[in-house]
Amino acid sequence: MLPFVAHYVVYPFHERLLGRATFPYSRDLEESQWGSPDELRKLQRCKLRDLLTHARAKIPFYRRRLDEAGVDPATCDPFEALSSLPLLDKTEIRAGVDDMVWQDAPGGLFAYDTGGSTGEPLTFYFDRRRQGYDQAARIRTHRWFGVEVGDRELYLWGSPIETSRTDALKHLRDRLSNQLLLNAFDMSVRQMDRYLDKLESFRPVCIFGYPSSISLLAEHAQSQGRRLNLPNLRAVFVTGEVCYPHHRDIIDSVFSVPVADGYGSREVGFIAHQCPQGSFHLTAENVIVEIVDSDQPVPHGETGEIVVTHLDAYAMPFIRYRTGDVGRLKAGRCSCGRGLPLVDVIQGRTTEFLYLPDGKIMHALSIIYPLRRLRGVRRFRVTQHEDYAVTVDVVCDDGAEKITREAVAKSVRPVLGSEVDLRVQMVDRLDTVESGKHRYVVSHAKPATPAAFQEACAGV
Ligand SMILES: [Zn+2]
Repeated sequence: MLPFVAHYVVYPFHERLLGRATFPYSRDLEESQWGSPDELRKLQRCKLRDLLTHARAKIPFYRRRLDEAGVDPATCDPFEALSSLPLLDKTEIRAGVDDMVWQDAPGGLFAYDTGGSTGEPLTFYFDRRRQGYDQAARIRTHRWFGVEVGDRELYLWGSPIETSRTDALKHLRDRLSNQLLLNAFDMSVRQMDRYLDKLESFRPVCIFGYPSSISLLAEHAQSQGRRLNLPNLRAVFVTGEVCYPHHRDIIDSVFSVPVADGYGSREVGFIAHQCPQGSFHLTAENVIVEIVDSDQPVPHGETGEIVVTHLDAYAMPFIRYRTGDVGRLKAGRCSCGRGLPLVDVIQGRTTEFLYLPDGKIMHALSIIYPLRRLRGVRRFRVTQHEDYAVTVDVVCDDGAEKITREAVAKSVRPVLGSEVDLRVQMVDRLDTVESGKHRYVVSHAKPATPAAFQEACAGV
């Protein structure tokens, strides 16, 4: 598909079909990014007032919160109203999500599941407005690197929804929109050779995926002494987990294009993204970010937990939502000229790999996803031992029907295959690590080489 056809015909048609105003939003964001910090603050003030007024009128949970705080968003300063509200965490969402949703949202409600950064499954809802703005924010950051809507984009990603959908419509959509998806949950040495072939023949303008997976592929190319011929490539976009310096170094040296990191979450969307100068700019038109410590905002520039309010999530507002990630707001403006405020994300989610004896290297999300979907699981932790055996510790949800060990095992067995020993344990609690965060997948195993695999086969 020619890029301009995808750009001018396919994408606009697709978005209109879904009832999303992505392109008008995108035009607004293109302009507002150059506004001064004061202008952006003014825009946030207007949008925050609208959001709080809507939440009070339509959503019982927030009506109670605002009334309890004694604030009326119609009459008081919206930032003051915001700061008088308590922080929102996952426990409250899990306890009463039905009370937090605007059932009459135009275009309907769309359910999403996430384990967030703490391995605690969570269901929440988006509307078309929220989806459109998240798309528009993504389009903008791509344009920062000269990547336009409709340009060829290779995904190294691993959502079971995306990878298992083999229906003709999805396939057609990917082809029409110039996208190619490679499964980040399936990264054996042999598979990575195939991925490198596909990468070269597809000739993407950008690559998008987990930093760990893209760096693994880059490392593989380097170890094979393979020089990739990717004449159209302009940028590698990484997201979903922390991009460590060693990830960046290997991606940079193999692909020789800028590596841009995006910070966000499924719950609260597109929070910040690196520009070509390397600064993390907040998506200030769509999110308000506060930094808190012990539930209190910290002075500008100090480190604390990142708390987000999404200004365009109307179906299910996220107002003062605790991300569990750590960061700090930065003063000053970036040399790129954009007025969007700056942030340092110091610590976010880390993800590991699981290794199978047949040489397969699996992104940790491949086991997280089926666990997330199980009802009755409050928290979980997956530990892989040196001999590849896997232990899944599960804390049951109090209110829900009791989940059984067998049900947990059945959900993850297809991911691990039949060769790996699997133990499921029901536990009362899971310890957190020093940072206060819970590492939900830990592997002590080493990747099996093809030789190890052959040996294993011979021994059977
Ligand atoms: Zn910048």
